[in-house]
Amino acid sequence: MRLIRMILAILLSAFCAAGLCAQGNPNAKAWKAMRFGKLWDAKGKLWTNAIVIVEGERIRSVTTDASAIPAGAEIIDLSKYTGLPGLIDVHTHMTIYTDETPGEPMLKQLTTNPPAMELFLARKGALRTLESGVTTVRDLGADQYLDIAMRDLINRGEMIGPRMFVCGYGLYITNAPYKPGVNPPAGGIADGVPEVLKSVRQQIAAGADVIKMYASTGTDDDVTGFQTYSYEEIKAAVDAAHQFGKKIAIHSYGPDGARDAVRAGTDSLEHATDMDDATIQEMAKRGTFYVPTIDHNRYYLDNWQKIGYANGFQEKTKAFIERNLETARKAHKAGVKFAMGSDAIYTMFGQNTRELGWFVKAGMSPEQALRTATTNAAELLGKEKELGAVAPGYFADLVAVEGDPLADIDVAIYKVKWVMKGGAVVADKTKTPLH
Ligand SMILES: [Zn+2]
Repeated sequence: MRLIRMILAILLSAFCAAGLCAQGNPNAKAWKAMRFGKLWDAKGKLWTNAIVIVEGERIRSVTTDASAIPAGAEIIDLSKYTGLPGLIDVHTHMTIYTDETPGEPMLKQLTTNPPAMELFLARKGALRTLESGVTTVRDLGADQYLDIAMRDLINRGEMIGPRMFVCGYGLYITNAPYKPGVNPPAGGIADGVPEVLKSVRQQIAAGADVIKMYASTGTDDDVTGFQTYSYEEIKAAVDAAHQFGKKIAIHSYGPDGARDAVRAGTDSLEHATDMDDATIQEMAKRGTFYVPTIDHNRYYLDNWQKIGYANGFQEKTKAFIERNLETARKAHKAGVKFAMGSDAIYTMFGQNTRELGWFVKAGMSPEQALRTATTNAAELLGKEKELGAVAPGYFADLVAVEGDPLADIDVAIYKVKWVMKGGAVVADKTKTPLH
């Protein structure tokens, strides 16, 4: 009898550890109801006086009928605001957050901070990201598998931050070290098809959700875009990723790597300035996502001294931004699908959604821009049935903004007042002025 009781206790604790019992998950029975003055659900409907009913971490219903609110539900009144789905940033470097110690260039911290310190510092960037309304990120490049550790800590509730989909090491050719000042052997260095295959498999074995490949030069204050990987190497990476059901993001600053990445079947193309018309047409035809990351170089221009870049790169970076915007304009006109990626790094977290302002400059309506950070981004993640919209069954990721983001995209960027991720309120400025 005692033995049976012991076995039952062990079984129950295993069950609870897996989050399957009410005891193990304090949110299991928690109902919440949010009232919004307006709600853009990303499913094609703009609601007036919407009520979003949430149980635990998922949305159960969206309604205007107050009698549908379950008894005992916590009611959160956001009726002064417009509700949006939690936003998705498909290009971050969450683990490369640096503080702003006076006199200490941020670039130097990257080469001197031990990994444990990097991960500890990343907490702050994660919070700032949430405060900007971003509840999910695709993280495209980290060292020491810190991204995998961070993703898992966040999922276990040990760290507060956006839901992360991560790539481990990005694939890099020799002579282009991932971190300036760090000499190979570093993870992710791969030359030739066999090494590319091995590296893709290593990232997947380590727990990566997505593969990242750098198919051209261009990073930090270097805005060159020389192709690094051959078509055969790129194709090998794309096929190896797809073979395991993973998507791939390919970095190219210039048009040559972009052309081969698209031809090889990449799922998304990052940066890709100066793309030729044929490549843009091919992207539209194939449904390849474009992630231009225009605002990233604006951040570098604003902060180059703090980062520690040498003077003299400003002119070429300004010209690159203009060409990046022009390429985005052409791609949008040609019907290419976009996803919002900030390429946030250092202290850029919290500015993740400023990219949306560039998208409007490139010719999108505010609603089209919002789609790049909701439904489009969710599709790129392969999570279009549970992220990027406010609808039954979706994760309860919600943002309240002050004003009308469909009339003025700046409302979505600068007027975020309240954020919920997976049913938990993670930012609340409804009681205090924003700035
Ligand atoms: Zn990046």
